[in-house]
Amino acid sequence: MTNTGSVNSSKIGNVIDFPKVNIDKPLKVLVAGGAGFLGSHLCERLLELGHEVICIDNLSTGRIDNVRHLLDLEGFTFRKHDIRNPLHQKVDAIYNFASPASPPAYQADPIGTLMTNIMGTKNLLDLARRRNAIIIQASTSEVYGDPLISPQKEDYLGNVSTTGPRACYDEGKRCAETLYFDYARLYGVKIKVARIFNTYGPRMRLDDGRVVSNFMVQALSNAPITIYGTGLQTRSFCYVDDLIGGFLKFLSTAPDVTGPINLGNPTELTMIDLAERIIRLTGSKSEIVHMPPAVDDPQQRRPDISRAAAMLDWRPSIDIETGLSATAAYFGSALSRAATGN
Ligand code: NAD
Ligand code: UDP
Repeated sequence: MTNTGSVNSSKIGNVIDFPKVNIDKPLKVLVAGGAGFLGSHLCERLLELGHEVICIDNLSTGRIDNVRHLLDLEGFTFRKHDIRNPLHQKVDAIYNFASPASPPAYQADPIGTLMTNIMGTKNLLDLARRRNAIIIQASTSEVYGDPLISPQKEDYLGNVSTTGPRACYDEGKRCAETLYFDYARLYGVKIKVARIFNTYGPRMRLDDGRVVSNFMVQALSNAPITIYGTGLQTRSFCYVDDLIGGFLKFLSTAPDVTGPINLGNPTELTMIDLAERIIRLTGSKSEIVHMPPAVDDPQQRRPDISRAAAMLDWRPSIDIETGLSATAAYFGSALSRAATGN
C-alpha cells in the first residue's frame, strides 16, 4: 500500500450517486477480470466503499489502462494472472468477472473461453472453499440461449446449442453455474450467482465488437452502421453503473440468497431502434447497412427482474437515453485520444 489517495477516475459517463451498501466491515475482495470493462468499474466502487481490492486479470480482453488510476491507491493491488491456473491469496470475497464476453472475442479462442469458465471457475471456487470466502459469479443471460419465452425468468431452463459457435461461452457459463451449486451442496461454499443482461457504458473497447460499441464508433465516425440480419432481433440494455450497484448489493445479502438472480434493464429494443437512437443522439450522417445474420443469434432477450427487486431491492434507474448519452461522451473522447495517440 503506497498511497492514501481516493478513487479518482475521470468520471466521464458516471451518471448516478451510488447508494451506500450495508457492509459492516471492510473486506479483502478479489476481482477476477478486474481490468475489464465491468470489472474495473466494480474495483472502483469497492474501493470507494472502503474495501481492499485485489484485481486479477490476464489482460486478454482487458486493459491495464482501465485500472491505471487505481494502481497507486492504498488498498488496490493488481496481479497479472490467468485463472486457468490455481491461485493462492488471502480473501474474504471473490467476484468472478474473468471471461471474454464479446462474441468475436470469445469465438476467437473458443477452447480458451470454455476452459476459463470451467477450470478458471473451479480454481476460484477452490480458493473460496479454502478461505471460507463468499464467491459471486458474473453469469449471463446467454444461459437462456435463444429463448422461447419472454421475458426470461430465472427458472426458465433455456434453449441453448451445445455445438454452435456461441456454445463455448454459453455452455461454459452454464457449467460454471453448475460448479457453483455443486460446491455449495458438497462443501458449503457461500455462493451467489447473478445473470447479467447486455450491459454497456464507458471503458468498452473501441474494437470490442459488441453492438453498442460498434454502433457508437460507426456513428461518431459517420461510417455505415452494420446491422446483422433484419435488425428486428431485440436486446435489453443496462447501463454499467446500475449493474454494478446490483452486484454490490448482492455481496451483502444473507448466505441463503444464492440466486441465480437476473440483473438487467427490462427496456427492450430492436437493433434497428438502437441504431436510429445512436444516429440521432450523435447527430451522425451514418447510413444503416444490413450484413448477414450472426449464426445462432438469439432473437429476443428481456430480463424479468422481479427476483432482483425482491431479494436485492434493486432495479435499474438509468434510462436508455441518459445511458447512451454518457456512453457517447466516452466514445467521443476515446476516439479523439486514439486519433492523437494520447
Ligand atoms: P471484458 O472482456 O471487458 O472483461 C473480461 C475480463 O476478464 C478482461 O479484463 C479479460 O482480460 C479477463 N480475462 C479473460 N479471461 C481470463 C482468464 N483466463 N484469466 C484472467 N482474466 C481473464 O468483458 P465484460 O463485458 O467486462 O464482462 C465481464 C464479465 O461479465 C464476463 O464474465 C462476462 O461473461 C460477464 N457478462 C458481461 C455482460 C455484458 O453485457 N457486459 C453480459 C453478460 C455477462
Ligand atoms: N449486432 C449488430 N451489429 C453489430 C454487432 C452486433 O447488429 O455490429 C447485433 C447482434 O447480431 C445481436 C445484437 O446486436 O443481435 C447484440 O449483439 P452483441 O454482440 O452486442 O451481444 P449478444 O449477441 O451477446 O447479446
